[in-house]
Amino acid sequence: MPVSAQLFERAASVIPGGVNSPVRAFNSVGGTPRFIASANGYNLVDADGNSYIDLVCSWGPMILGHAHPAVVEAVQRAAVGGLSFGAPTEAEIELAEAIAARVDPVERVRLVNSGTEATMSAVRLARGYTGRSKIIKFSGCYHGHVDALLADAGSGVATLGLPTSPGVTGAQAGDTIVLPYNDLAAVEAAFAANPGQIACVITEAAAGNMGAVAPLPGFNAGLRKLTTDNGALLIMDEVMTGFRVSKAGWFGREGVAGDLYTFGKVMSGGLPAAAFGGRAEVMNHLAPLGPVYQAGTLSGNPVAVAAGLATLRTADDAVYAALDRNADQLGAILGKALTEAGVEHQVQFAGNMVSVFFADRPVTNYAEAKASQTWRFPAFFHALLDAGVYAPPSAFEAWFVSAALDDDAFDRIAAAAPAAAIAAAAATPEGSQA
Ligand SMILES: *Cc1c(COP(=O)(O)O)cnc(C)c1O
Repeated sequence: MPVSAQLFERAASVIPGGVNSPVRAFNSVGGTPRFIASANGYNLVDADGNSYIDLVCSWGPMILGHAHPAVVEAVQRAAVGGLSFGAPTEAEIELAEAIAARVDPVERVRLVNSGTEATMSAVRLARGYTGRSKIIKFSGCYHGHVDALLADAGSGVATLGLPTSPGVTGAQAGDTIVLPYNDLAAVEAAFAANPGQIACVITEAAAGNMGAVAPLPGFNAGLRKLTTDNGALLIMDEVMTGFRVSKAGWFGREGVAGDLYTFGKVMSGGLPAAAFGGRAEVMNHLAPLGPVYQAGTLSGNPVAVAAGLATLRTADDAVYAALDRNADQLGAILGKALTEAGVEHQVQFAGNMVSVFFADRPVTNYAEAKASQTWRFPAFFHALLDAGVYAPPSAFEAWFVSAALDDDAFDRIAAAAPAAAIAAAAATPEGSQA
């Protein structure tokens, strides 16, 4: 029995489902998750000693590749200086300054420990600032496992096919209005039906948690106008896109300003840290300046901050050019193989996030993503995995490239893709592992 399978059995007897985040369990693709022993550059090594080209990158953060020397060195140096103080440090200012310098609408930054905390706090702040209760979110967008934001969420909630989650009360979810992504008319109608009651619209700046689904031209700009016209705030969730799809995240590509932003993933270089920020006038409602409470024992942790700073400082224009180039190359390889195998598909991009949908037309929202032939995905995924290419284990997740991918990596992906495409073409709805 492979070591990964032994570890999975052992894990399942002490950790629910054997994993600490649901999609890792491979439920929707079947088979046994690979337990990772180490990683370097684009290479993942599992507990059995198998190597994989990593196209998940810890779900986004590892834009430089794994164990980048500049990041490892910064983390080691910080750790030697003490792991946590519960008091302010200069490095926290530097990270906040680095974030504000990259994303123009962000004037103030508060550091937290996860993307979930960032969105939870941003929504609380929007409610506290406006004095309103209702919020608008979009189907298939994922904003972490915040009670009020789990309704019709993407990521693992989509992977497991859950409408929402037991444990979320009617009171917690009742003020959440869920609308189809990319549907401005629905947003306009919701504002008209709830005059003076909507605190904010929260959206993924470009959706990546139902697969990569970019906003249609004018969608984010329309949200900007509707929120402004109705006295509500626009929260751009850039936890996934931030500092990945450009130096300034999705804002850097599109230029539509939110009132509040949430960040995570890339900005902490693979350690647990995240942030929210925005206009000073709104952010100054936070304690200790204002009445909206938010806090964290480990917030601004010196080791996590060091990893984030080193990542952002290393991520220069050349890194972003490499990410874009690598995403294009990955998409081209997958598209070519799937076309040659004769299976209907869409290779979609949201910046340099990539997705494969088995659909006959571009996917623009969650209903279309769910209507795609997701049952082809497990065969595609496992054929790639068997050939040493580690794609996300879900049809509803984006694929993430790093700047570390090189010609050798792409040769191996190109060698693996045709058989995977043929496996996807041969798949049947009945044959899919649930
Ligand atoms: C990953 C993600 C989150 C949640 O971040 P965690 O650190 O997993 O809590 C929130 N929003 C978006 C858009 C994400 O991709």
